[in-house]
Amino acid sequence: MNGFRTLDDLGDVRGKVALVRVDLNLPMQDGTVTDDTRVRAAMPTILELADAGAKVLLLAHFGRPKGERVSTQSLSMVVGAVQDILGREVMFVPEVAGPVVEQAIGILRDGDIAILENTRFWKGEEKNDPELVEAIAANGDLYVNDAFSAAHRAHATTEGLAHVLPAYAGRSMQAELEALEKALGKPVRPVAAVVGGAKVSSKLDVLKHLVGQVDHLIIGGGMANTFLAAKGVDVGKSLCEHDLAPTVQEILAAADKAGCTVHLPYEVVVAKEFAANPPSLRTCNVHEVSADEMILDVGPAAVEALADVLKTCRTLVWNGPLGAFETPPFDAATVALAKIAAALSREGVLTSVAGGGDTVAALNHAGVAQDFTYISTAGGAFLEWMEGRELPGVAALSA
Ligand code: ADP
Ligand code: MG
Repeated sequence: MNGFRTLDDLGDVRGKVALVRVDLNLPMQDGTVTDDTRVRAAMPTILELADAGAKVLLLAHFGRPKGERVSTQSLSMVVGAVQDILGREVMFVPEVAGPVVEQAIGILRDGDIAILENTRFWKGEEKNDPELVEAIAANGDLYVNDAFSAAHRAHATTEGLAHVLPAYAGRSMQAELEALEKALGKPVRPVAAVVGGAKVSSKLDVLKHLVGQVDHLIIGGGMANTFLAAKGVDVGKSLCEHDLAPTVQEILAAADKAGCTVHLPYEVVVAKEFAANPPSLRTCNVHEVSADEMILDVGPAAVEALADVLKTCRTLVWNGPLGAFETPPFDAATVALAKIAAALSREGVLTSVAGGGDTVAALNHAGVAQDFTYISTAGGAFLEWMEGRELPGVAALSA
């Protein structure tokens, strides 16, 4: 990652129009915002610019309107929620470019905030159309990108604008990039990665990239079953992708070559039916799984062994739960290892970065999310970063 400008590099912005890309793709139910995490993440950047006297125009997408005006996906729906969190009045402008935006800027005083309409109402957004980029840029003096979660897309407001206006990373983008750099860019070694979740096939590129980057690769979840099966273990009825055996062999060979130790569970929690606290629940060695059983979690002794590995490490990156954590007691391994990672992070010996929709839910469930060094809520962008890909929205910010 090259250097990028941050808000620290801004000169005097009083009276200037700041076009600020944020993530306002808020989960809603019956017209009410159910989770305002994304607004809270963008708040420091918005208020810093407003308090410095800029006219702050927020750009964001909402849902997937596919280039058409869809009234149920208007960003006007989130204005109330944004006002509540910011504690400021927020104007809504039903366009992203042109005379209506120009008029709005004329009405705004220095330090005022406005939300422009859903950028994806315009076909040019997802096509990164230079005409749309120019039209939006015409009303702005500078561009700030504070939406890491959209940085894996090369869209007009996530990438294009950075090329035509002075471009800066917002505070949330900056925090994310600094945390990711610490975890995989220039990490303090040894580095451990925990990769779990349902399927190997959804995270093949993540695994392929990580074996070359980390010292310890801890594999759990359904994907561990695929690895075990490829090594000749009978995993019974477990979720398993048997056809991926050759790919698993490749990954294991690459790990061996790179000096990365791959940790697979040697003890597992199994059941004959997938239900909460099923009567058939038992813990056994991986070689003792019977044909009618499913592996649903890593066993407690194996978790202790993994904890011992973590204790030797200085950096941890985590994506994917170790078991079917939504259903008790198959959350036990994820919760136990998460607590170890949290304790090591609190003591200051481990830099821990985690991301992924279910991973964040699992760490919240374990009650340790606040102890991790950094939790990414970016989903797709986080996974692409774990695959070692350059994110276009980030690359465009790099000076
Ligand atoms: P993330 O969203 O954090 O990237 P994934 O979506 O890849 O994570 O995986 C999470 C899902 O994997 C969870 O729904 C969990 O129940 C499932 N899972 C984990 N271990 C198993 C297992 N042994 N068998 C079946 N499903 C599992
Ligand atoms: Mg998921």
